[in-house]
Amino acid sequence: MNDSIRNVIILGSGPAGYTAALYTARANLQPLLIAGNLDTKTSRIKGGQLMYTSDIENFPGGVWAPGIEADAWEHLSGDAEADATANLRGLSGPGLMKRMELQARHFGAEMLEEFVTEVNFDSEDNIHTVTTENGTQFRTRALIIATGAAARLLGVSAEEQFFGQGGGVSTCATCDGHNYRGAEVAVVGGGDSAMEEAHYLSRLAKKVHLIHRREGFRASQIMLERAQNTPNIEFHLNKVISDIKGKPHPQAENIAFFKDKEVVDHAVLRDTQTNSISALPVDGIFVAIGHVPNTQIFQKLLEMDEAGYLMRDEHLRALPSTLCDTGRLRDLPHVPGVFVAGDVSDHVYRQAITAAGMGCQAAIETERYLAGH
Ligand code: NDP
Repeated sequence: MNDSIRNVIILGSGPAGYTAALYTARANLQPLLIAGNLDTKTSRIKGGQLMYTSDIENFPGGVWAPGIEADAWEHLSGDAEADATANLRGLSGPGLMKRMELQARHFGAEMLEEFVTEVNFDSEDNIHTVTTENGTQFRTRALIIATGAAARLLGVSAEEQFFGQGGGVSTCATCDGHNYRGAEVAVVGGGDSAMEEAHYLSRLAKKVHLIHRREGFRASQIMLERAQNTPNIEFHLNKVISDIKGKPHPQAENIAFFKDKEVVDHAVLRDTQTNSISALPVDGIFVAIGHVPNTQIFQKLLEMDEAGYLMRDEHLRALPSTLCDTGRLRDLPHVPGVFVAGDVSDHVYRQAITAAGMGCQAAIETERYLAGH
């Protein structure tokens, strides 16, 4: 047990977590941000979902244009301004996250790259305990939960066998796409993520097969049309992947480590209307079918909706679970000093900017809470 009691601990290193760290650091609360690390089984990663995104074009101000220095922007006019407007580009997801991390650290936020495995809100004096995967315990007066959400996987039995480490199943085109130059790949999903992944991969792969389980799309019109108008993206509608078949790893004969390993050979597709089965030969399968909130450690402690997203009141205060074992907590209107921010509690907007906004709100609420206790 780390004996000192912290003012505030922040769980999560996406836009919500880093923004909360920035604001609480600037308020002189010496925050500790527990950032997570990398878990290939669940696709959780330090920096959160934006680490899997190529260009972020909708984070206000988060843009650049070739050849224009940071301190020249406010002086742009005339042709130079028109030129910048025409050539404007979004920052990469990892680039934006690194900037957020450095900004929070610059103002004094401490960072720890571990996953939290347990939290305890039971103490009579409202000092909460956080335990990390290495068994270190921290005590804190306030906690901001910004653990975000992770990519959902298909759930077919062979998926885990091929997921990560070059096996052929991925949830991140930006990370793994370069392995599929000139190859044929599949992208699963009908939302903006699937369209973005397919479009990104179309610049690397020979052909991209977009597999979606129905004819309607959740994707925004602009992103759907961009994918539909890309010549090497072929749409397969009313199809799901029911199985994945492998072939020996190309390095199996040369490197002992790969001897018994397989890589993706083809996806088995099932037509959702006729149930007919077909084989689609692909080297890679990119799963882009939405997300599940990272709330497992709060089971029976904090109130969640049916999908597992944390519930909150208008001050972003976490609500005690009706399944909570402790009567003391269960009977309170909210858990004292515990706030939630970002995608862990938002399945509606799920944008970097809304998560960052909630991180700011949670930090201000924390400041007010600590000032009153
Ligand atoms: P969505 O929930 O929007 O879409 C998920 C898609 O996956 C749906 O088409 C869904 O099908 C399909 N799906 C879900 N489960 C399965 C399954 N088991 N098997 C097959 N298909 C399945 O998630 P996204 O990640 O695409 O987007 C989330 C949010 O992030 C949205 O608000 C989006 O706008 C935003 N976003 C914005 C981007 C940008 O602006 N650059 C980029 C990426 C995302 P069905 O429709 O039938 O339910």
